[in-house]
Amino acid sequence: MRKVLSLLVLFFLYSTLQAQAPTKLSASEIYHQIEKLNFLGSVLYVAAHPDDENTRLISYFSNEKNARTAYLSLTRGDGGQNLIGPQIREELGVIRTQELLAARRIDGGQQFFTRANDFGYSKTADETLEVWNRDEVLSDVVWIIRKFKPDVIINRFDHRTPGSTHGHHTSSAILSVEAFELANNKSAFPDQLEFTETHQPEKLFFNTSPWFYGSEEAFEEANKQNFLQFDTGVYFPLKGLSNPEIAALSRSQHRSQGFGSTGSRGTQEEYLELIKGTMSEGKEDIFEGINTSWSRIEGGAEIGKILSEVEENFDFTNPAASLPKLVAAYQLVKELDNEYWREIKSKEIKNIIAASAGLYLEAVAENATATPSEEVNVRFEAINRSDYAIDLRKVEISPNNSSIEPDVTLKNNTGWSEELILHIPKSSEVTSPYWLNEEGTTGMYKVGNRELIGLPETPAHTKAVFYLDFNGVEIPFQKEVVYKYNDNVFGETYRSFEIVPPVSVAFDENVMIFDSDQKRQISARITSGKDSVQGTLVLDSGENWKIKPESRNFSIPQKGGSVTLNFSITPPADQSETYIIPKAKVKNEVYSVKNVHIEYQHIPYQTLVLPSELKLAKLDINKKGQQIGYIEGAGDVVPESLEQIGYKVTRISPVDISEASLKRFDAVVIGIRAYNVVEELKYKQPILLNYVKNGGNLIVQYNTNRDLKSDNLAPYNLELSRDRVTDENAEVRFLAADHPLLNSPNKITKADFENWVQERGLYFPNKWAPEFTPVLSMNDKEELPRDGSLLVAKYGEGYYIYTGISFFRQFPAGVPGAYKLFANMISIGK
Ligand SMILES: [Zn+2]
Repeated sequence: MRKVLSLLVLFFLYSTLQAQAPTKLSASEIYHQIEKLNFLGSVLYVAAHPDDENTRLISYFSNEKNARTAYLSLTRGDGGQNLIGPQIREELGVIRTQELLAARRIDGGQQFFTRANDFGYSKTADETLEVWNRDEVLSDVVWIIRKFKPDVIINRFDHRTPGSTHGHHTSSAILSVEAFELANNKSAFPDQLEFTETHQPEKLFFNTSPWFYGSEEAFEEANKQNFLQFDTGVYFPLKGLSNPEIAALSRSQHRSQGFGSTGSRGTQEEYLELIKGTMSEGKEDIFEGINTSWSRIEGGAEIGKILSEVEENFDFTNPAASLPKLVAAYQLVKELDNEYWREIKSKEIKNIIAASAGLYLEAVAENATATPSEEVNVRFEAINRSDYAIDLRKVEISPNNSSIEPDVTLKNNTGWSEELILHIPKSSEVTSPYWLNEEGTTGMYKVGNRELIGLPETPAHTKAVFYLDFNGVEIPFQKEVVYKYNDNVFGETYRSFEIVPPVSVAFDENVMIFDSDQKRQISARITSGKDSVQGTLVLDSGENWKIKPESRNFSIPQKGGSVTLNFSITPPADQSETYIIPKAKVKNEVYSVKNVHIEYQHIPYQTLVLPSELKLAKLDINKKGQQIGYIEGAGDVVPESLEQIGYKVTRISPVDISEASLKRFDAVVIGIRAYNVVEELKYKQPILLNYVKNGGNLIVQYNTNRDLKSDNLAPYNLELSRDRVTDENAEVRFLAADHPLLNSPNKITKADFENWVQERGLYFPNKWAPEFTPVLSMNDKEELPRDGSLLVAKYGEGYYIYTGISFFRQFPAGVPGAYKLFANMISIGK
């Protein structure tokens, strides 16, 4: 029983964890929290990715219905593109996780995830469920239903229409429908029942809309027998905002996806189609037939009576007037037998008590970071801004539970402050997203600790508990130990207090490509997490690669300081790939990790501690031409990658595109989605095409067909489509085997298409003028051949090449064949 309790506490208390500026509730916000305190119903919204969720519905249930509302996103969105910075894959997943949490802070929802990894676009649910471990993802959905205990589940997607949308989408609905049945079945995932109980949700809906019917007309005609329809366009006078306005603010947190949205006012209909459970005539409320009042729990009626008085008599000019009743209700909540509601409601009521008293509690570490075994000063602040008699009995910090017992009365608006030393245990884990701590598979994250599954982020490691006495009633308040500082531009800035490794080792790049057997220098940067660190660095690699010297010593006097150590590396004569693993030895411990920091204004500062490695690839590659002009689009690492194989790359600002400026380049390469994001290209397109006509070589990488800034992408007719090949191992057939692109200066063979990552390519053209030569053909399973991945045409004296092949994904992964094919594209006509 003890174990169950601690897990429940962990699950619910830490659903938002990383340091944010503390929320300070106004009287109207306190009132809204009281309304929510008096509603005992829960909704779980289920979909596949960050951005799938309908924020209008989440806000509506949280703010209008006052329900506990959560979004379960099966994945963290690692497979998408990043519109605001260079992070992709796991790092992008961390950003999107935080964007969802930022969205929930606005719309009032909670956030959960499964261990499923967003491995990239998937066309069918069958494929998705093969790459994911179906059973594990299903078990996670069941686990979250058993823990969160929703009365109602709403799926974003339709479980009955595989193939009509992203395979992850349909899979999310299929698994949700299955989990609805399994959550209450004792023989399903019985190991979970050691930690939680079975649970049967009452109803399951599909959040349908005209989009799923293809048109407004088709939707009009749909049989709406099982539909529930309601207006989510409500206005909240307490917030001064309409529900769609809140939803837009929430959705606008998805900045890495460029989903800034503008809210609207007025009626906004939503439709839910009943999939499981029953619904009677009249049907307006998803909670119809479900007791959502305090009387749903044994011993709740009395609490409900007190709290409805608090709600009715709430004084917006003096919320502290509610304190005696709130404290009395808290005492009764603590006595509830129902463990689940006891934990949820005591947490909610404590927040309301603190806010009503104008109580401010904080625990701030003197440094942003510390290493295991270190000591750090923590400063506490406690202040009561009400006339209610509150005594501060004790403050305790964990993990080592040192404490002080001030035993003082917190008088109205008179602050108390004290310091205590926190000893970080030697065994402490470093602060990093928990799902990245172990190596997973393409489709799954590996999480060894069951308690963490489902949580959006790693629970804070260091906590302070303030034990306060409210007129004889002791109430403990738990706070994360944070770090804060004043930023000269942004003002008061909060961060999580982090446990970091004593040393970390980073390389400038993730991959180094050698186009000859000439030795090159590599730099390893060692950063220390504490004062006076001495040690030795060795770089381990594959046998044929020679690294000199064998080891280097380092000494870093100050915490946060770093040194750069240089090594020379000589590749073997033949084509070869290897990984360098750095081993920094300090005393008797060896460290092979790097710290990755992610800093954006809209999300809390993130530190990831990841395995440090550097991929080395020696290519047998030939090149013609030297000078490349690069016009950046939405952002990719293609320029750096081309530099790696010896090209001179000049980034050209779109405004500087002129006939004269392009002349000197052997090829001009256009970055991904440039024609979607660079307005200026509309005016520069004739110049680019003229460059080709006069003998230039223009290589255009993929764009989407929505929002194209120019309607003549190419010198001849070329129509973009949504054709993509998502299987990175799909067979590649040569349509023009004798074409220079496959022969000169590098002979391309099938082997060059081995070991690709994530996908072959996307948004291929599906119609083109006869002047174009399609070079390659490929397709996903059970689809027709797609021939538009690489198209080349002679125009005037030069060449125009359009390619949807995802070089931007292959280059950073060091895929040799991708480099060779690109070198041929640059070399054409030379
Ligand atoms: Zn999606």
